[in-house]
Amino acid sequence: MSRMVPAIATVLFLAAPPQDDLRTLTRAAFVNVRVVDVENSRILEGRTVQIEDGRIKSIHEAGKADLPPNTFSIDGAGKYLSPGLADMHVHHTGSGAFVTGSEPPLYGEQDLLLYLINGVTTVRNMSGMPLDIEIKRKLAAGEISGPHYYSSGPPLISVDRGLYIDTPQKARDVVAAQKRAGYDFIKMYCCFGGGLYAAIVQSAEENKIPLVGHVQLRLPLEDAFRLRSIEHLEMLPRYFNNELPDIKRQRHVVEQMLASHTFVCPTLLPFEGYKFLDVKTLSDHLARPEIAYIPTVTFDEEMNAIRKHESFLSDEKEAASTKRMFELGMQYAYFLHQQGVPLILGSDAGGIFPLVPGFSIHRELELLNLAGLSPMDALRTGTINVARFLGNSDTRGSIAENKESDVVLLDENPLVSISNTRTIRGVMIGKTWIDKAAIDRILLRLKKR
Ligand SMILES: [Zn+2]
Repeated sequence: MSRMVPAIATVLFLAAPPQDDLRTLTRAAFVNVRVVDVENSRILEGRTVQIEDGRIKSIHEAGKADLPPNTFSIDGAGKYLSPGLADMHVHHTGSGAFVTGSEPPLYGEQDLLLYLINGVTTVRNMSGMPLDIEIKRKLAAGEISGPHYYSSGPPLISVDRGLYIDTPQKARDVVAAQKRAGYDFIKMYCCFGGGLYAAIVQSAEENKIPLVGHVQLRLPLEDAFRLRSIEHLEMLPRYFNNELPDIKRQRHVVEQMLASHTFVCPTLLPFEGYKFLDVKTLSDHLARPEIAYIPTVTFDEEMNAIRKHESFLSDEKEAASTKRMFELGMQYAYFLHQQGVPLILGSDAGGIFPLVPGFSIHRELELLNLAGLSPMDALRTGTINVARFLGNSDTRGSIAENKESDVVLLDENPLVSISNTRTIRGVMIGKTWIDKAAIDRILLRLKKR
């Protein structure tokens, strides 16, 4: 008889209806909450934020809010309501520059929830393939749940791999085709010379699709300011002999950059990752709980590659030069920020092992803070700066009346310690609310190993 018990338990477990993790709320309110106001760099005490049909209907002092009777009330006492974060550099489906659209995707549709439960309500995918167009369509149709999803097309590259561009005509054809296919950005990889670069820039302008990507080391730095966003900070310091930033020497460059309205997505995190540092940082990464969310196949392949290159990891010269690169990245991120160049938050989630969708953004925020940005300024890189970059700051990027209700409820103050962006109590994107219990269930469900 006792043998029957586990069998029955299993049957009951399987027969149980799936938990309703994502609740649709037409009317909701965060009651008596502290609002993180990233537009005015302040905290508003004791507010009641009323949500209706996925928008912020009103923000009142808690005692003065008059809520309709059928409002779903969320207790905000002692908590912080922060705008949803963006990760503006992810590789959700394909990694790196050499995607062709034929290889198996890194992360699946269900893994889009990893962003949401981490408070990330917007992502920009940087190595697109047809699958990303399908994800965008399904999200728009409400067939799947996930963050607002932007994607570049497959990255353009000037060597015979991936999306190989070798003539100006091919550049024009590819840019037009990516625009027609429904991608949001053209991603420039490397290492273009002047003729091809000019053709890409011109066709992006003609097709009205923003061009983003890497600085081209073969070209003058000024050419990089034709990009809407510069990705990563490893190339920029090379134009200055890898010396520390200095406004006396770089004033002219900074002025050009400001005039061009180019944004910079520093992605400091990959430089802290295993490919660039030592065995210690690798083991720190591997000890993090989010490692369980890397697909098993990817994990095994990457670990095999690491074992092959273990000698590389312990090479002191390599370690020293990559440590220098990381330090320069940190210094330049702070320098550009101080000079008024707008930074946008991006972590390279998925692109560099072992950075995991959603989780990685909290570490990138910590690195920006370590680089010198205040916690508020770090938050702004992932919220209002992103909305300005995407041109939708009238509806997104901060908590204000009439904006979309993309918000994160935090237990602790993110301005006291930026690490508190991890103390997530619940996440709302539009009409969808995911509370702490639902987050825990999703985490269990999405574990890969
Ligand atoms: Zn990347």
